[in-house]
Amino acid sequence: MDILQDNNHAIDLDRKDPLFRFRDEFVFEDPDLIYLNGNSLGRLPKSSRDRLDKAITEEWGSRLVRGWHEGWYEAPARIGAKMAKLIGAQEDEVVLSDSTSVNLFKLVMAALQARAGRNKVITDDLNFPSDVYVLQGAIKLSGGERFLQIVPSPDGINGPSEALAAEIDDDTALVSLTQASFKSSYLYDMAAITEIAHNRGAWVLWDVSHSVGAVPIDFNDLGVELAVGCTYKYLNGGPGSPAFLYVRRDLQERLLNPIQGWFGTSEPFEFGLDYEPAHGLRRFLTGTPPIISLSAVEPALDLLLEAGVDRVRAKSVQQTGYLIDLWGEHLRPLGFKLNSPKDSERRGSQVSLGHDDGYRICRALIEEKKVLPDFRAPDNIRLGIASLYTSFAELYEAVHRIRTVVEDSLFEKYPRKDPRET
Ligand SMILES: *Cc1c(COP(=O)(O)O)cnc(C)c1O
Repeated sequence: MDILQDNNHAIDLDRKDPLFRFRDEFVFEDPDLIYLNGNSLGRLPKSSRDRLDKAITEEWGSRLVRGWHEGWYEAPARIGAKMAKLIGAQEDEVVLSDSTSVNLFKLVMAALQARAGRNKVITDDLNFPSDVYVLQGAIKLSGGERFLQIVPSPDGINGPSEALAAEIDDDTALVSLTQASFKSSYLYDMAAITEIAHNRGAWVLWDVSHSVGAVPIDFNDLGVELAVGCTYKYLNGGPGSPAFLYVRRDLQERLLNPIQGWFGTSEPFEFGLDYEPAHGLRRFLTGTPPIISLSAVEPALDLLLEAGVDRVRAKSVQQTGYLIDLWGEHLRPLGFKLNSPKDSERRGSQVSLGHDDGYRICRALIEEKKVLPDFRAPDNIRLGIASLYTSFAELYEAVHRIRTVVEDSLFEKYPRKDPRET
């Protein structure tokens, strides 16, 4: 197709893009660097940089311990209330604390405790390994007859929706899935899976780490019981920024945090010796929240709320579609496979391309071509698109540089696989 032969079409799409101005809200140290890793670590918003400076200089530097009474104590719930708007939850159904893995553990243990008599926990083999480790560990701790059923994907790309539907039964306590697969970007139909689970009396726990901020989510509308998610990917909260957890309001008083700690009590500063869980979601906090990291999340969320996730998703669908068109025209003839779903409804904001020399091509792109994708074994080059700041022109240029790496054999000097792997 003609429009794929040069960058004019991309430039035109950028000109018409209602979100284009949001690029200016982010730090671009090197304008020539094409960053396609916002699915792993989002770019730094200028407003987060300013907010961090204030948190360090004024709050920590000057207010010192008085900060706890001047906003720090409320921060996990206050920022959670903002987060709630992005995921279709009530203000008191979300808090930020700890990492995604830790939050997942807390919620899985709480759910298993509340669901005596049901023994099966279901997930799939596209899930993020840490999630599977947490499920395995939680099941081991909860003892009894509990077991984990890992439903395999039919092809390593698409989620096993039909096999899952067949597996969920009256013995199922919990279905715990990640909405968007980190390898293939397969996007589950959250409404359909949730409904099937509910019809059989099972609870759902969605990990939306790889979709939140890129895909509209409405937990309340679907009656989702539990969810967790990461804030440093499409939410741009910064490396190691605390994750969030969501618990449907009517379950909050029933569920107990398995890691009891002082921040989960109603009066931590009274220092009583008997644990008394706070009412509401505060009980899912454990220890002191990471205030500096938390403060960077808030302005980053404000940017997404201003842009609107519906508009971000519309642009993302257009961008992943454009990238797939460019793949078909320029990269497929060079041996690249499409390792993501073609159907945009089933695709998150990332396009994975498979190539036998994928690892070396990635290395050459990073070392020589100022393109930053990442690589996931066995052959996935992941091209993450953060539509708040990724432009169409960057996508065109990235494909051009990938082509050069292969056509000029620039990748051949690199090892075939990551030397850290054995
Ligand atoms: C990124 C990601 C995580 C990250 O977990 P941490 O404990 O915050 O390191 C967990 N689960 C999924 C599905 C992810 O994509």
